[in-house]
Amino acid sequence: MAFWERMTAKVLGVFGIRSVKSKIIVFAAVATLIPSIAMGWLSYVNNKRFLSQSITQELQSVTSHASREIDLWLKERIYDVRVFSGSYVISENLEKINRPKLSRREKRVAVSRIGDYLKSVKAKFEDYEELLVSDLKGNIIATSSPRKTSLALPRGWERAALKGDLIIGDPGWDESLDAGLMILAVPIISTGERVLGVLAAKLNFITINRILGNYRIKETGELYVVTLKGILLASTRPLESGFMKTDMAMVVANKLFSNEAMILNYENYRRVEVVGTLRKIAQVGWGVVAEKERGEAYAEIFRLRNVTIGFTVGILCIIGIGAYLLGLTIVTPLNRLTEGADKVAAGDLEIEVPVVSRDELGFMTNVFNHMVGQLRKGRDELAAINETLKEKNIELQELSVRDGLTGLFNRKHLTGTLKNEIARAKRHKHSFGVLMIDIDHFKQYNDEYGHLAGDEVLKRMADSFKKSTRECDYAARYGGEEFLIMMPETGEARAVEAAERIRSVIEKEQFSLKDETLRLTISIGVATYPQHGSNPDSLIDAADNALYEAKESGRNRVVLAGKMSGKKKGKTARKK
Ligand code: GH3
Ligand code: MG
Ligand code: MG
Repeated sequence: MAFWERMTAKVLGVFGIRSVKSKIIVFAAVATLIPSIAMGWLSYVNNKRFLSQSITQELQSVTSHASREIDLWLKERIYDVRVFSGSYVISENLEKINRPKLSRREKRVAVSRIGDYLKSVKAKFEDYEELLVSDLKGNIIATSSPRKTSLALPRGWERAALKGDLIIGDPGWDESLDAGLMILAVPIISTGERVLGVLAAKLNFITINRILGNYRIKETGELYVVTLKGILLASTRPLESGFMKTDMAMVVANKLFSNEAMILNYENYRRVEVVGTLRKIAQVGWGVVAEKERGEAYAEIFRLRNVTIGFTVGILCIIGIGAYLLGLTIVTPLNRLTEGADKVAAGDLEIEVPVVSRDELGFMTNVFNHMVGQLRKGRDELAAINETLKEKNIELQELSVRDGLTGLFNRKHLTGTLKNEIARAKRHKHSFGVLMIDIDHFKQYNDEYGHLAGDEVLKRMADSFKKSTRECDYAARYGGEEFLIMMPETGEARAVEAAERIRSVIEKEQFSLKDETLRLTISIGVATYPQHGSNPDSLIDAADNALYEAKESGRNRVVLAGKMSGKKKGKTARKK
């Protein structure tokens, strides 16, 4: 499968067909073109054959009928002429004229008798322009024409006459009559079977023209009679250059005569491309030609071809547009999906690709939207978890610096705070106070009421310290029941004052336990920066020493550290 897929893609790629849209259009075009071209071609070929057959039939039938009719007409004329020549008026008078001892008058009478006869016959037939009688030397004896006339018989006519044969002359222009004519001549035979001369008839082509006129060839068709030499004798169309003066190319004439009854394509005497056929007229060797202009003859075929092409192009356009739209319904959702995927890849999960169709692509889009929804949900959940984690972290951080029991800062945090405060006070040239607080006789309390009660006291103390100090003051649990309060921007006097206030608040506070109400006191050692120390340790030491002194001097009191004097006593002293 993969092989064929690759191969097809390769072949299509060669033609530049890569997108789904163009593949659909090309497929639709091919699927349309093949059957429509095949159908169109088949119908074109069939119709062409049918049309050719009908043209052939028409032309052949016209020529065959017309040639037969002309042939018949000629036979009748030959018969006529033979009948005329057999007239005793002609033979007797001609015999008389030939006699040697005939007077001039008698001869004139004989000639005029023949002339009268010829005139009377000619008057009855419109086909004859002139009837003549000539002797065997070619001298005209008598004629039906009143004018001076001539007679041009074909070569060798004398021999034919002596044999008693019919003489047919070539059609030609008769100068004396100024008309296109043909000559038919038959020998005149005496009672003693002797050939006396010939009776010649000059035939016009009126009847041939009429015969041709009886046939109709559709539209541009033409029917005409042509001699072997290509001279036109008659036509259904007026001959522009005149009768007997119009001729066709010999090549064409030869082609027509040698392919009798066949349908040929050629350029006719008017230099027009035609399709035509010729049928010979037996007696004379002429031909009847029927032809029609090729453009006209095949106009129907061309029209058919154009309709077929137009139809194919039309269908192709409709199919093309259809395929294009179909392509759009596939490609547009795909493009939307690709855009969506791009956005997702760039981190934007707030997208929803519209579902337009209910097909596979619609389904795919739904799946995509669902997938993005899940991602969004996951991201939101992750964000929530992160938020919680952050909060927990802050909480943890708090816990790491706070004392678990009292909620005050622990000793670790205190050291850092004191360092910072020293640095700040140094910068601003301020002083600050440090109060070291220890509960009096707490061990005793613990022993008496238990550790839990002691813890409760520690919590209460812490709350109390917070309440009785400023917002900016800082309280930490220094040790078991020892606390340290750091008071920024506070000098000795105000530190002592504040310590006193704290001490007094505790002194007055009632610690209730079950039914009992107890009172507790605290001792406070006060030291200030920079008076009693310049670093956390020395400051704490100073406060611690002051506290020791407070304890020593009776407890429940505040003692301010002596100037840099605390070092001697310190924690070791307190432990006693
Ligand atoms: P003094 O007046 O000399 O300070 O007498 P004191 O009994 O308070 O003596 P000291 O300060 O040396 O004793 C500390 C006592 O505090 C020991 C212990 O019982 C108690 N203590 C220390 N830490 C805690 C604590 O976290 N909880 C409780 N309940 N008691 C504690
Ligand atoms: Mg103590
Ligand atoms: Mg104590």
